Amino acid sequence: MSTQRALVTGASRGIGRAIATRLLEGGGVVAATGRSLDALREIEREFPGRAHALRMDVRDRAQVDAAVAAAAGALGGFDLVVNNAGIAGHTPIDDASDDRWLDILATNLTGAMRVTRAALPHVPRGGRIVNVSSVLGKFGVSRMGAYCASKHGLIGWTRALALELAPRDIAVNAICPGWVETDMATLGVVETAASLGKTPEEFRREAIDAVPQKRFLDPSEVAGLVVYLASPEARAVTGQAISICAGQTTF
Ligand code: NDP
Repeated sequence: MSTQRALVTGASRGIGRAIATRLLEGGGVVAATGRSLDALREIEREFPGRAHALRMDVRDRAQVDAAVAAAAGALGGFDLVVNNAGIAGHTPIDDASDDRWLDILATNLTGAMRVTRAALPHVPRGGRIVNVSSVLGKFGVSRMGAYCASKHGLIGWTRALALELAPRDIAVNAICPGWVETDMATLGVVETAASLGKTPEEFRREAIDAVPQKRFLDPSEVAGLVVYLASPEARAVTGQAISICAGQTTF
């Protein structure tokens, strides 16, 4: 199986950008998607002819269907689909508005399903789907209800879809990073610190101290796991939720 042709969501920065870059450095062709077209065009310029920048808001079904069809046309199909686009944020239960809850679920969970549904007709036997969940798909964190629900949901959906697609020899897995140095982590530290009445520096020190390896991950480490899951050696790995978290959880 070739893993040359990949569709990556949320490729404009952070983990998604690291995944897209690693795949391109490995000789692949990548449809790099997201909402910030300017950032995606930088990847296109870095890897001319092999990176294709496409605007795709995963909350918008029509945009997903159109962008995935355009990407399939440009790449000739997908050996790998990486559902990485995601947002976080606090959703305390006494928040009277549904807006943030709905936005997080639409992006992190429904978005992944819609992208995969649109992509699957273009995924041959031997293809791979990787869903970027989180360690918060395995345990809860106070005030992070929507995010935890979306990431737990992504793991449940991964398990079901892996069984549904096994007869087509398409492997489906979730990966569950702990803290990774990205904009999302920076914002998460700031928001949580504020909710606890601490400074961001104070809370960041505590967060690092709670990680057994005493560090946040680099996005490239997560990209390396995706490359493994896309490799021929990983064909039998399906329906799993694999933590990559410096010891934050051991399951
Ligand atoms: P960033 O905030 O740095 O990047 C998020 C990416 O998702 C951006 O490329 C953004 O692109 C894209 N995105 C957000 N909303 C949408 C949308 N509606 N449609 C399309 N793209 C969207 O976060 P990370 O790189 O840290 O996160 C990537 C994934 O990893 C997420 O699913 C996150 O939950 C998960 N994760 C992150 C951890 C961390 O500590 N950083 C830990 C565990 C999991 P744009 O704004 O251009 O649309």
